Amino acid sequence: MNNLPSGWFTEEFQNEGTAFSLKIKEKLHDEKSEYQHIEIYSTETFGNLMVIDGCVMLTERDNFLYHEMMTHPALFTHANPEKVVVIGGGDCGTLKEVLKHPGVKEAWQVEIDELVTRMAERYFPDLCSSNQDPRANFFFGDGIKWMSDVVPGSIDVIIVDSTDPVGPAEGLFAVDFYRNCMLALKEGGILVQQSESPLLHSKTIIKSVHQDMKKAGFDQVHTLPFPQPVYPTGWWSATMASKQKPLTCFREEDAQQKPFVTQYYNKDIHRGALAVPEFMKVDLDLD
Ligand code: SAM
Repeated sequence: MNNLPSGWFTEEFQNEGTAFSLKIKEKLHDEKSEYQHIEIYSTETFGNLMVIDGCVMLTERDNFLYHEMMTHPALFTHANPEKVVVIGGGDCGTLKEVLKHPGVKEAWQVEIDELVTRMAERYFPDLCSSNQDPRANFFFGDGIKWMSDVVPGSIDVIIVDSTDPVGPAEGLFAVDFYRNCMLALKEGGILVQQSESPLLHSKTIIKSVHQDMKKAGFDQVHTLPFPQPVYPTGWWSATMASKQKPLTCFREEDAQQKPFVTQYYNKDIHRGALAVPEFMKVDLDLD
């Protein structure tokens, strides 16, 4: 029931008894890649919309929330991020945020499905506006395999900007993948993963992300919730992990004086996102 005849796109969350709809002007593109079904719509109020396998990926209007919160907390927690790798993230929005940090010398986007990036270039040009940056590198292939082949101790920050943990992304939510991330990170390195909805997934996906990251050797794990209106429940999360480096301290002064524009992220938003809601403390067995 994704395409209502009345001109609304609806994503139904079957197990939750809820749905999210956007009034559409027209369908701009519909194509099946080797990996997934990609649809692009123009909407009445949220700009262009990308849908993969029936799930909302992003809209022009509110993607900044997700992309900024997937990027800046991790990069301002790391002491000096120079090499950053985005796994997934084919729409290039996370890569764009990474490249805003002048200290980043090399950034990679490792996306399994090249069609996602081609669609983003065509229908979300703003997200791709830094793709010509000489520090930007693109690899189209499986991020799980890429991470198992990478030079050990060579990356400062890994950002897993994946689809939900099904299909090609399933293995991105797994101990073996996290172990390879641990090996790939330099001393002081940080891993961050999109970890779904705090309200829906604290007891399930977020909890197993914490457990699996710890099994892989990350002794610090912290989940930061943030608003994301177009995702199930309108509330999403990024989970950061590190070996030893405390994740509740960050370069607050640098965040305060960031030499670039954001729409959501700032020092106080970062500080606030570190607070753990009471139900999550229970669900995640924290203190
Ligand atoms: N913000 C989105 C969300 O949370 O729904 C995610 C956006 S981004 C489009 C997700 C990307 O992850 C997709 O383009 C998908 O092709 C990519 N992806 C899924 N599994 C992957 C894998 N194993 N390796 C690399 N990229 C993968």
